[in-house]
Amino acid sequence: MPAQLRALLGDITTLQVDAIVNAANSSLLGGGGVDGAIHRAAGPLLLEECRQLGGCPTGEAKLTRGYNLPAQYVIHTVGPIWQGGQHNEAQLLAACYRNAMALAARHGLLSLAFPCISTGVYGYPAEQAAQIAVAEVRACLEQCPTLEEVLFCCFSAADFERYRQLLGQAIQTT
Ligand code: ADP
Repeated sequence: MPAQLRALLGDITTLQVDAIVNAANSSLLGGGGVDGAIHRAAGPLLLEECRQLGGCPTGEAKLTRGYNLPAQYVIHTVGPIWQGGQHNEAQLLAACYRNAMALAARHGLLSLAFPCISTGVYGYPAEQAAQIAVAEVRACLEQCPTLEEVLFCCFSAADFERYRQLLGQAIQTT
């Protein structure tokens, strides 16, 4: 059965999934936003492992353990900084989702949660970013036979509504 795609509203650091995806910066040495929250929740050993990785180019992804997180792994990916849309931003953002999915497949993961990559400090327009996220994840599912569930973890009600619409997901009443 193909993996279920689902939007949820909440803090990605609390999710009990095989891996959460981090919207990191290219140093992988920690930052603000979701990156800061993940490092705080995982503890200092995460930073220690990240130091060994030598950074990560935009659009690529690298996997570490999750340490104190409920998630077993963190997949760090570096989203593009929005520069108006003519600087390969869409291709690079799609590559983040594709490369994170490829790592999940390589490690045989069953469940994966994404934040809204690049839509915070990096300034990517939220609607365009969400469309790319959903389209790219859907396109990659066939190459990820072990994945049972992919979550889009939204941190704002507006993002949650956006993903819910894109996924055709009904409002949960229970
Ligand atoms: P970027 O630099 O890629 O834009 P940010 O961390 O600034 O990364 O923002 C990416 C997205 O992550 C934003 O939509 C932001 O609201 C969201 N975010 C921030 N903290 C959390 C969290 N704890 N859980 C889930 N999403 C979060």
